[in-house]
Amino acid sequence: MKKKVGVLALQGDFEAHRKALERAGADAVEVRTQADLDTVDGLIIPGGESTSMLKLLHIENLFEPLRAFGQHKPIFGTCAGAILLAREVSNPAQESFGLMDIAVERNAYGRQLDSRIVKLDGDVEAVFIRAPIIRSAGPEVKVIASYNGTPVWAEQGRHMVATFHPELTADTRVHESFLRKI
Ligand code: GLN
Repeated sequence: MKKKVGVLALQGDFEAHRKALERAGADAVEVRTQADLDTVDGLIIPGGESTSMLKLLHIENLFEPLRAFGQHKPIFGTCAGAILLAREVSNPAQESFGLMDIAVERNAYGRQLDSRIVKLDGDVEAVFIRAPIIRSAGPEVKVIASYNGTPVWAEQGRHMVATFHPELTADTRVHESFLRKI
């Protein structure tokens, strides 16, 4: 049976994630309410704009349900989603779920270098769009790939983050690695 995975669909790049999950062999659903969340076994928080996403999470009364979901089910945060999963956020500071022991700095590559495509180890193509930088990671965090000396893809127990956009490339390996956690 296919794994049923949600994509938080309040704001940002949820449509591309839904398609990427389907390419990777999952049954993907858009999540906008707690009732939607109750039907899925894992969740992707997409890229977008983390401050807007945070506001919408509160307006839709999804902030606490999502944190509770993360206590027992896997969440994969990409870019803005990685910012929301972090323990600490800077530039500027904002609220987050604290489900992964990482400290992130938003928009950290600066204006000149804000968007680019690079190759990571293992030939994974990484698209960065106004990406955060993971400035520190606790001992329980396993770094899967780095770029320019800082982690860009990491996991901790059931959760995973990428500061790039795996949903924008044809390669489904990143999504498949999340599906293995479910
Ligand atoms: N810069 C955005 C933020 O701080 C994240 C960018 C993205 O998700 N592509 O929320």
